[in-house]
Amino acid sequence: CADMAMYQVKGQGKNGCAAFLPHMQTSYLNRLSIENDLREAVKQGNQFELYFQPQMEALTGNATGLEVLIRWHHPKEGMISPDVFIPIAEETGLIVAISDWVLWKACSHFAALSALGFDHLRLGINLSPREFDRSDFLERIQVPLEEFGVPPQFLDIEITESLLMKDVESIVARIQRLRDTGVHISIDDFGTRYSSLNYLRRFSVNRIKIDQSFVRDLGLSQDSYAIIQAIVGIAQNFKLNVIAEGVETAQQLEILHQLGCNEMQGYFFSRPLPFEKTVEFLKTTPQH
Ligand code: C2E
Ligand code: CA
Ligand code: CA
Ligand code: CA
Repeated sequence: CADMAMYQVKGQGKNGCAAFLPHMQTSYLNRLSIENDLREAVKQGNQFELYFQPQMEALTGNATGLEVLIRWHHPKEGMISPDVFIPIAEETGLIVAISDWVLWKACSHFAALSALGFDHLRLGINLSPREFDRSDFLERIQVPLEEFGVPPQFLDIEITESLLMKDVESIVARIQRLRDTGVHISIDDFGTRYSSLNYLRRFSVNRIKIDQSFVRDLGLSQDSYAIIQAIVGIAQNFKLNVIAEGVETAQQLEILHQLGCNEMQGYFFSRPLPFEKTVEFLKTTPQH
């Protein structure tokens, strides 16, 4: 149950793997001890690992990019889900050090992939709202890119809509400065937050990511179908790329394709994989 079961829950036996229930885990793990252990993990650095989930062109079966997803191997508790520790990292400010680690590590993996001939893949990095509060945010992104020779257009920063709500003017200016360096911007979990369509005019975003909650209900709910149809329409009108997340079935793929969304990500193609497994997966795609 390597990557789907994010952590082992005490009392479920030695192979006890649990589904994705962060609230359950926090009842076993005291929040304060997570915070302390996270601080220690940040200091040590070797408890984190990056997993990669391929982003696919559904028609050709080629990968266009990889979303970078952090994993925390807790020395005693096993895998702890980012849904559990990222919010704590954000509240405590540890997110800054964690994101730095992610950026550096991801850039080193990009260089390794390029050396293997996979030099066309964009890396999707999740950044938290707090990253944009800091005056040195641009430098923190640019230095690792330069260090590993990653062209800026191969970095795709995934930001959540909620970020766009706070302190809009300064965020607009900062995202624009980041875009001016050539880095790509995707709006993550599109449609789930206090989405203000008006903002789309003001950010030069490259792409919107259709949230997996809509994809999950495709084929079951007329509403989700209509929402995805509307989001694809928005993407087309704003000349943005669009990708659907959480694609698990051939039926979802088929409907998305009919709706005009051709880029997809989800368990149907691949789960998030550790680096070696990612390379193996990429070797099975037509273009490599
Ligand atoms: P997200 O950015 O929305 O990432 C997508 C999540 O959906 C990932 O969970 C991924 O493993 C999962 N997923 C992918 N395909 C499918 C599918 O077909 N079905 C289902 N049910 N799920 C799928 P993960 O890796 O546990 O990450 C959870 C969240 O933690 C991410 O949501 C993101 O908000 C955050 N996160 C992960 N890595 C990082 C990181 O390096 N930095 C920051 N700031 N946040 C991160
Ligand atoms: Ca994301
Ligand atoms: Ca998402
Ligand atoms: Ca999410």
